[in-house]
Amino acid sequence: IKPYIDRIANGETSSILLAYRIIQFLLRCFSGSDEGKSLYLYFIKPEMETPSGLKASFFTTFYFKTESFKNGLAKFLTSPIDTILCLDNKQSMFCQLLTGLLQRDEVVRFGSTFASVLARTIKFLEDYWRELCSNIRTGYLSDWIIDPGCKNAMSLILTRPNRELADSIQQICEDKSWEGIIVKLWPKIKYIHCIITGSMSQYVSLLEFYGGGIPFVSPIYNSSESSFGINLKPVSKPFDVSYTFLPNTAYFEFLPVGKDGEGKAQETWTDDEPVDLANVKLGRYYKVVVTTLAGLYRYTVGDVLKVTGFYNKSPQFQFVERRNVVLSIDVDKTTEEDLSKEIMKAKLILEPLGIMLTTYSSYAYTSLTPGRYVLFWELKMKGSNDLPKLDAKIMEQCCCMVEESFDFTYKSHRKGGAISALELRVVKHGTFDELMDFYVSKGVSVAQYKPPSCLKSEEAVKILNSGMVGKFFSPKTMF
Ligand code: AMP
Repeated sequence: IKPYIDRIANGETSSILLAYRIIQFLLRCFSGSDEGKSLYLYFIKPEMETPSGLKASFFTTFYFKTESFKNGLAKFLTSPIDTILCLDNKQSMFCQLLTGLLQRDEVVRFGSTFASVLARTIKFLEDYWRELCSNIRTGYLSDWIIDPGCKNAMSLILTRPNRELADSIQQICEDKSWEGIIVKLWPKIKYIHCIITGSMSQYVSLLEFYGGGIPFVSPIYNSSESSFGINLKPVSKPFDVSYTFLPNTAYFEFLPVGKDGEGKAQETWTDDEPVDLANVKLGRYYKVVVTTLAGLYRYTVGDVLKVTGFYNKSPQFQFVERRNVVLSIDVDKTTEEDLSKEIMKAKLILEPLGIMLTTYSSYAYTSLTPGRYVLFWELKMKGSNDLPKLDAKIMEQCCCMVEESFDFTYKSHRKGGAISALELRVVKHGTFDELMDFYVSKGVSVAQYKPPSCLKSEEAVKILNSGMVGKFFSPKTMF
């Protein structure tokens, strides 16, 4: 039909091809992306059983076990379904990466549910590439892969020694700098497909670095309670992504959230009534309230969203911050969004020195009075995984930069002595992976893991402390 399409594009009437008038052509963002395979890293968690015998599981676990996944998306993945359904995340990750490497010339998409999973995948690759290469070279699967589903699936793919492939992967991974490693290993990749907005935006620079500039597609905003919206401009930059609400997935209302003088999305406890989907106002902040067919009645989701436009009458929102995340001492409240903006500014000090901030978290230290905010930063050199030399002056400068960008309430508390100087603890590469392992061991699903911007558990703080390689403070007299 191409000749007809060309003729219509050049001015002939669309009735030469169709009964309806053509009003618009839709272009594909990435040519060739509908061919080839997806290296999507997906994981499940064991299902639980209630006393009455009903199953209880994470939404992603439920979905990956459905027939529609098996007969739909799964057909385009490099990972055999049994490697995804393996309950041991480590064996699953190893096998999924191995099959991805074995089919490296067919992979056109790299992705997962959330960006945090991809960050973890890259760390896993750093730790295991030698073993993966050796499996490919010998044609034998490592003997610690004992899951029957994985073993069986791998026996159909890892069928012979492939020295040539192992050599080329080894050569790429031996390079001291892993900049662009994703595109080097999978040269046909067109885009990275994962949620990279909100708390996931902390992984943008890490994935840009390893991805070598491949664009991101942050496709969807949804939750276990309901699907909310989709990204109609898939190639927009991570910080420009808006999600268009799908008016038919639930009944949506929106609770207005006030803004203070500095433009923060802080809650103001107004008595405002929720408004309907079509009545939200451009530029304003809201919390979503859902009423679902499954039975939730006016349930406040709690994520804060900002209206950025409309598609027909359906509002488009930028994701501002995740539900219930507040770092707080006394009456000062620092939201996830504020923290992320402040840290983004401070990390610019490190970038010219070739130092990368790969991930961060924070907590409010209140065992001593006055309390203080503590930031945890995982740092590494751009070209390698070496720990950067930490210059105390520069690190203090970072502390100052973060504190300076805090709001009026913080500054006045700091000045009056109700909050003491900000502390920055630098942890070594891999420490945040241990944090993720900890949460996963407590029952969180890898596929739905969100890195905590703010820690509330002492055990979690202990884990990050155990990887600490330096601590720094803002000058006491800064304000
Ligand atoms: P869950 O409770 O595991 O189903 O996760 C749902 C939550 O994940 C949402 O309420 C958001 O906080 C977060 N989330 C989901 N999609 C996005 C997105 N596109 N951008 C940022 N955060 C998201």
